[in-house]
This record gives sequence, C-alpha cells and structure tokens, in this order.
Amino acid sequence: MEFISKALPARKRVALVAHDNRKKAMIQWCLQHRDLLTRHTLLATGTTGGKIEEATGLDVEKLLSGPLGGDQQLGAKISEGQVDLLIFFWDPFEPMPHDPDVKALLRIAAAWNIPVACNQSSADMMVRSPLMNQVLERDVPDYQSYLAGR
Ligand code: PGA
Repeated sequence: MEFISKALPARKRVALVAHDNRKKAMIQWCLQHRDLLTRHTLLATGTTGGKIEEATGLDVEKLLSGPLGGDQQLGAKISEGQVDLLIFFWDPFEPMPHDPDVKALLRIAAAWNIPVACNQSSADMMVRSPLMNQVLERDVPDYQSYLAGR
C-alpha cells in the first residue's frame, strides 16, 4: 500500500466513546476541557454522547449506542474522512460483548492514521498539544493508486 499526505483541519471532528465504567471519567474530562471542546465538532456513541450533553451542555452528534452498532458507525465515518480524532476511554477490566466492534474501531483508526487516545492522560496530552487547533498533515493509504493497480 502506498501513502499520500492528507490534512486534518484546525477545527477537528472529535469522536468520544466511553465504556460504562469509564463514563464518569469521560464526563469529568469533558468538563475539564469544555472551553477547548467548544472550538471543535463533537460526535459520540449514543449513551456516551447523551451523558456528555446532559452534564456539560456541549453539542454532541449522537450515533447509535456502541453495542448496537455505534462503534461500527464511527469506524465507517473514520474511513470516509468524517472523523479527525478519537478519544476512547475503554474499560481494561471488563470483557465486552462487542469486543470485535471495539477492535475493528481501533484498527480502522490506525489504518487511517487519525490521532487516538485510549486513556485520560493520553487525551490530556492530545488536547494540550498546539496541533489540536492547527491543520495537521498525516499519511493515509492512497486508495486511488491502489484501485488503479499502481
Ligand atoms: P455507548 O457505547 O456510548 O452507547 O455506551 C460505548 C461503547 O460501549 O462502545
């Protein structure tokens, strides 16, 4: 696979996902970074998004709940270039019925080379980076060349 450079915009589309045992931490994190988050576009799996909206008043596009397909919807949006950054507070202590979907979401985020934070300290570092509010060039698979057999 060849790669080409593609920019993530300064105003980022930020996907937020938290497993049930991590939802409180996610809400706290969103409250802590509320001002910064208002400068970006937010989307989330259904339950996470609803709880963030309720607790913070932030505007969040809500997809289906994760176990009902929300993780896969997010993966599709990443593939289509509609998500620029993923913040995923997953639970390292509980098995999930939708583990395959979680794995698929993380795989597709890696394939399209978007920034991913899987815990709070990584998310803190990510949003405190000056790149959070700047255009960010990154390499992505060159699908057109792949289709053309190059
Ligand atoms: P939820 O989904 O926000 O609907 O709870 C998150 C997940 O478990 O993937």
